[in-house]
Amino acid sequence: MNSNFVESKKYKRLHIKGVLFLWLISCCNLANGQQENSKPLVESLPPALTSLNNISATLKFADEIRRFQPLKFQQLMQNLAIKHDFTKEQQHLFNFLLGYEHAYNGQFDNAVKQFKNILASDADKLIKFRASYTLIHVYARKNMWFEGLSLVAANIKSAASIKDKHHYQAHLIAIITFYKKMKQYELSMYYIRELSALALPPKADCLAKQLAIEANFHLNKLSSSDPAIYSALNSCEQANYNMVISIIRIYQARAYLAERNLNGAFESLLPYIETINSTHYPELITGMNNILAQAYWQANDISNSKHYAEEALLTNKNNSNINQAAKAYKSLYQIAKIENIPTLALEYHEQYTELERLYSDDIKTKHLAFQLAKNKNLVQQNKIDLLNEKNNVLAAEQALVATKVTNRHLVLVLLTFIIVSLTLFGLRLWRTHKRVKELAEYDALTGIFNRGHFTQVTNSALKYCKNAQQELSLIMFDLDHFKKVNDCYGHACGDWALKETIKVCKDIGRKNDIFARLGGEEFCLVLPSCSIDAAMLRAEACRAAIEEIITEESGCEFSITASFGVTDVKRSGFDLEKLLADADFAAYASKNNGRNRVTLFEVPTNDAEEKLDSSWGYS
Ligand code: GH3
Ligand code: MG
Ligand code: MG
Repeated sequence: MNSNFVESKKYKRLHIKGVLFLWLISCCNLANGQQENSKPLVESLPPALTSLNNISATLKFADEIRRFQPLKFQQLMQNLAIKHDFTKEQQHLFNFLLGYEHAYNGQFDNAVKQFKNILASDADKLIKFRASYTLIHVYARKNMWFEGLSLVAANIKSAASIKDKHHYQAHLIAIITFYKKMKQYELSMYYIRELSALALPPKADCLAKQLAIEANFHLNKLSSSDPAIYSALNSCEQANYNMVISIIRIYQARAYLAERNLNGAFESLLPYIETINSTHYPELITGMNNILAQAYWQANDISNSKHYAEEALLTNKNNSNINQAAKAYKSLYQIAKIENIPTLALEYHEQYTELERLYSDDIKTKHLAFQLAKNKNLVQQNKIDLLNEKNNVLAAEQALVATKVTNRHLVLVLLTFIIVSLTLFGLRLWRTHKRVKELAEYDALTGIFNRGHFTQVTNSALKYCKNAQQELSLIMFDLDHFKKVNDCYGHACGDWALKETIKVCKDIGRKNDIFARLGGEEFCLVLPSCSIDAAMLRAEACRAAIEEIITEESGCEFSITASFGVTDVKRSGFDLEKLLADADFAAYASKNNGRNRVTLFEVPTNDAEEKLDSSWGYS
């Protein structure tokens, strides 16, 4: 026997031994994007690695090849085991690989011990995380449900800080597989959904789809024509993942069988018997044989049913899968009964009932472990509920505060809006009022008081001056030959002349003078607290200013002059009408005397004495 042959045989033995566990942990490697199919075993290592000069590189290499070159992996592990100069980090990785090696070789107790040591050590969190999810697989293999459930809970907690997406996916697969084995398909489905939401490499994507199909079948949510089946088959064919394709076909056949569609069941399995057998996965092959046995039984094909039931017993060596074994014995018992072989029927029946009892115990154990874990978790859950409640109250309070703040903002905005609106409205009102007032009080053309307002204001001034024993003078003037200006130069020129006249007179005046347009081109200036002499001077100044207006600016050339009449309360008394009449009389005198002049009203001699003497005595 040459060495290659020996190595090959050794590998086969290892391969068969580890295949069950491998199937479980293969998922982790799939998540790493590695290949499922065995690579050629002999693949020489770089000299640096074989000589173990570089321990870290060797450990890394061993980690990478552990699935595909188990023999080489074990050789490397043996070589590494004699090294004593590991760094702390190297030691932890070596311990992890050792745990994996034990698990692969079926030495589950050693594997548990190894992984537990890593979890209790000061290894970095990724190694601990890997040890934790690999240990979940071991617990599933060992039917250590309660321990597994506790570890699943811890693993989920620690996963939150794991950044490595491949190991994160592998952890999800470990949990999904564990829950699946515990028949907790709802929980399994929950993590399948989380897994499917990740960006998965093709093989992991195929696996996630298959796991969903399996969980849905057990949750009675899978129909034989479910599009998910075809989508999964498609993904797995693209990923060239034959093992999983076979599992999907078996579940489709089971769905057909549940729907009593025997043709469907046959069609989904018979063409693929060889492919399924070539997976060398006993559970899978036994499953296929049992389904075919049942399908043929239902089709009354006793001979084929018997053939596949017997095949199922053969492929499920040592009744390793109790449920599958029970199914096979049940089929054989039914067949023996039909074939009228009572002793055989009894024997199969005894086997079947015993396995059924074991299976039922197994389910009960899982159920009990689950309930125990649930009860334990309940405490935690209650704490979480309480926290959630507190959080809800806090959130509600925060929402209330936020609402209050928002409301306050709204009120502020509303108030600001109202204030601005009211201000704008008030402003408009004030402007309108001002405009109305202006219209009511002022002459539109010249901007000085109109007659009505003039009367009102002058009467007040007269009253005040009378009470205060103050003087008050009144000047009236009328533009000369103004009609001619209009006639010769147009109305616009006339208007310009009117405005200009007022402008120059205003410039001369004081602030509290009362200046008004009495009508047409007739104006009046009331000067409270102003002596008649000062008034005469003012009138003269106005006259001169009007005369000096340069009319070219209007576009026409003409002359403007005005005739003035001046009086005061000493002469005319505190009666406005009288004051106006007397000033008008004086102005008329100016007109008569050649215009463009100022005339002081002279009290007619017969009543002058009386007027001047008694003027201050008016009340
Ligand atoms: P006199 O020197 O005797 O006062 O002659 P006069 O032409 O000024 O006298 P009269 O009172 O007969 O004419 C006043 C003219 O003033 C009549 C009218 O055409 C003109 N007038 C009155 N109001 C306005 C106005 O608002 N704009 C213009 N352009 N002319 C006005
Ligand atoms: Mg006139
Ligand atoms: Mg006139």
